[in-house]
Amino acid sequence: MMRAVVTGGAGFLGSHLVDRLVKEGHSAVIIDNLITGSLENIAHWKGDSRVVFIEANVSSFLDVPGEVDYVFHFASPASPLDFVRFPIPVLKAGALGTHNTLGLAKAKGAKYFLASTSEVYGDPLVSPQPETYWGNVNSIGPRGVYDEAKRFAEAMTMAYHRFHGVDTHIVRFFNTYGPRMRLDDGRVVPNFVSQALKGEPLTIYGDGKQTRSFGYYADIIEGVYRLAMSNFHEPVNLGTHDEFTILDFAKLVIKISGSSSQLSFHDPLPDDPRQRRPDLTRAREILNWQAKVSLEDGLRQTMESFQRSIGAAAKS
Ligand code: UDP
Repeated sequence: MMRAVVTGGAGFLGSHLVDRLVKEGHSAVIIDNLITGSLENIAHWKGDSRVVFIEANVSSFLDVPGEVDYVFHFASPASPLDFVRFPIPVLKAGALGTHNTLGLAKAKGAKYFLASTSEVYGDPLVSPQPETYWGNVNSIGPRGVYDEAKRFAEAMTMAYHRFHGVDTHIVRFFNTYGPRMRLDDGRVVPNFVSQALKGEPLTIYGDGKQTRSFGYYADIIEGVYRLAMSNFHEPVNLGTHDEFTILDFAKLVIKISGSSSQLSFHDPLPDDPRQRRPDLTRAREILNWQAKVSLEDGLRQTMESFQRSIGAAAKS
């Protein structure tokens, strides 16, 4: 059984990964500075010796006493709204944070796992996007802070693999959703779901014809675990093939929630990718993985959990 460090372990995906690791019999040291993570996501581990929490910033030198078998670098704000709110912390988490966590893995003789993103493809000129596509990124646009930091992170990870022989893995997440996302995170799923639940208009940026493909966290974490246990070192896309226009996605959220919300149209976001859909051949062939949860089922579960959070916030 291994002792894993999970940076961003109090965040949305990081905290679900911690749950999975413990379920598999491992223990976890969470490192999070709580800039976007929340102690609520890991409150169920309080007092349990299998999960330790260290409040620290991955962009500074990391001191983790004791043995470490695996380092998962999941720390980074990930919402386009965060790229505007926290541009420099985003750059630092992807760049300095990756360097520090790779250094930790090397010093401890641990394996390493980088959470990367479909944003490395930028506004893609190829669809669906295979891992071999090099991308179309505007380095100086508002999303550049995330895109370029993650591209640097991938380059740094491959350099530690090739030059230092660290056993590394890289996942590229496409749009992922589920319980524990912040209601005010700013991404499309929490925005639309909370707007629908409150009967407010769903805010469409631009004409709504841009597309996204959504993966439910439980499927995505299964893919993460399989990749972490594999011998594969090149990046692997994780997501789904179900490509929706944002307009159709808004209508689906309204239908599933039974809401009477209307749609409201707003200015497009700069550099908003027009089309995003993963080529999942690698995940299927190398990990024998594919998503199982339908968008409707995943959205229903997400809605239920958001409903509880909205109810709790109203009471307090
Ligand atoms: N979007 C939208 N309304 C919202 C939030 C997002 O129309 O309230 C759009 C956004 O412009 C983008 C897509 O939904 O085209 C997905 O946005 P998200 O912030 O979830 O992340 P992205 O996929 O752009 O990284």
